[in-house]
Amino acid sequence: MTTIKDNFDGINKQIMDTAISCGRKPDTVQVIAVSKRKSVETVMKGIQAGAKHFGENYIQEAIEKINIIGKEGICWHFIGHLQSNKAKFAVKYFEYIHTVDTLKLAKEIDKQAKKIDKIQKILVQVNIGKEETKSGTGIEEAIELTKQINTFENLSLQGLMCMPPYFSDPEKARTYFKLLVLIKEKIIARKMDNASMEHLSMGMSNDFKVAIEEGSTMVRIGTSIFGKRD
Ligand SMILES: *Cc1c(COP(=O)(O)O)cnc(C)c1O
Repeated sequence: MTTIKDNFDGINKQIMDTAISCGRKPDTVQVIAVSKRKSVETVMKGIQAGAKHFGENYIQEAIEKINIIGKEGICWHFIGHLQSNKAKFAVKYFEYIHTVDTLKLAKEIDKQAKKIDKIQKILVQVNIGKEETKSGTGIEEAIELTKQINTFENLSLQGLMCMPPYFSDPEKARTYFKLLVLIKEKIIARKMDNASMEHLSMGMSNDFKVAIEEGSTMVRIGTSIFGKRD
């Protein structure tokens, strides 16, 4: 049996090799260890293995873990579907929120961030495969949403996030990653002042190499670090 440390080292090695082989600097790709449904003990093993970025999907579960583990030296990313009535907690606990997909949610995050005098880093999630079962703004709506987000003082738009349809052959995800890059370029062309747009949150255990080849800066890896979900 491999340990979390072995897995984490292995992933980092693969990220490095992939980045180098496509002419990118390895340190431009951040690995986010996705710890949803994993215990505090398991997250601690991830920390001991050297992970600094963690992704969580469920607010209540995340609050319980973060209250125990803390934020010192760790960057917490919210990557699950966020309801507006939970925005307050996401703002309080997370450095990044990857899943902003409606104006209503953006507005609420801005409002909650204002209350605690925080500039909240966000990404806009795009439903890149137009799947009914997935969250995310429509491809056509993404640019308009980022334009509106730019008017909110307490939001800092960091980039885009996507989750393509699942394929056992990761090569099939490539066109979706390319599409997200295209949308990002269209947004950058608009030169919005509070948008840095440096990040592309794309790539999971199955397809992160392809995502890195297409420009991902944040890969979200769960299964390949922590094993199958309980
Ligand atoms: C669970 C999850 C991941 C990690 O998926 P793995 O296939 O286990 O690596 C990444 N992103 C999101 C949004 C997830 O919900």
